[in-house]
Amino acid sequence: MDSSASFDKDRHVFYLEMMLDALPWQYQDQEINRVTLAYFAVSGLDILGALDRVDKDRVAQWVLSLQACPSHKSDLRDGEFYGFHGSRSSQFPQDDNGSVRRNGSHLASTYCALAILKIIGYDLMRIDRETLLISLRNLQQPDGSFMPIHIGAEKDLRFLYCAAAICFMLDDWSGIDREKAKEYICNCQSYDGGFGLVPGSESHGGASYCAVAALQLMGFIEDDIVSKLPSSSVIDVPMLLEWCLQKQAVDGGFQGRCNKASDTCYAFWVGGILKILGAHNFYDKEALRRFLLTCQSQYGGFSKYPEEWPDLYHSYYGVTAFSLLEELGLKPLHVELGISDFLANGV
Ligand SMILES: [Zn+2]
Repeated sequence: MDSSASFDKDRHVFYLEMMLDALPWQYQDQEINRVTLAYFAVSGLDILGALDRVDKDRVAQWVLSLQACPSHKSDLRDGEFYGFHGSRSSQFPQDDNGSVRRNGSHLASTYCALAILKIIGYDLMRIDRETLLISLRNLQQPDGSFMPIHIGAEKDLRFLYCAAAICFMLDDWSGIDREKAKEYICNCQSYDGGFGLVPGSESHGGASYCAVAALQLMGFIEDDIVSKLPSSSVIDVPMLLEWCLQKQAVDGGFQGRCNKASDTCYAFWVGGILKILGAHNFYDKEALRRFLLTCQSQYGGFSKYPEEWPDLYHSYYGVTAFSLLEELGLKPLHVELGISDFLANGV
């Protein structure tokens, strides 16, 4: 069978369902990110219109069991973050006094945990939001960026994005100083219009998505801003637009950085920025579609590069990319959140 002929929805459902059920041994070293892997499978199935394949109660119970709780409310100001753990193996048991000796909850895991709960229809108002949001402030740095855990970690745009998405989903911005966050994002825009992960670093598709999506979630950029140009904006939109459009390579795919090979996931990261900006008709969609189909596996799922084995990460972003391309039968996206559009679904 020629797997490049068309988007093979049924096989992608089969692939993601299999991944949700039991991960192959190649994912062993990603055990600590289990909730992220579950997010790819659950959200992918949702976008494919196959959420009925997910045991929602079981998934909700498991995700909720990963939330970190302080031993005492007074611990909330102790500098730690009480979010969600990435897996059972990073969740340390309490000692004999009922105290948690080590808290490994992580911003990215927290974003994925909340996204899963939202997708399966769990009411996020039922979780302990206060603990999460008060302790989230402990992670924001004086320059506005975020660390993912409370000690010894890198800080960059990825974690700032996670913090913004968390506050958006919880509909409460008390966990973040938005002005400081905006300042940090603006400092990450490079001379060529793209954004680096930290100020002064090379422009990158993923970092640029985090910057634009976070600004949009925090209410700093208007919808479809490109149609309103020239307008004043906190970032240089024309330069960013040009940078994004230049990332579509001759093979039709999007590259994450200059002179890199086209890669499935950037069809979402860069395509997503163009959608947020209202510029999704400015690139060659047919060429992108043809490129993505060369990365579609005959067993379901997508690979990073053409004609390779699929992986869960690129399978998810392949599916989201096809949703951006308005493939029939796929749910539209809430692009800034990276999940299906729950407003369009009436949730
Ligand atoms: Zn990739």
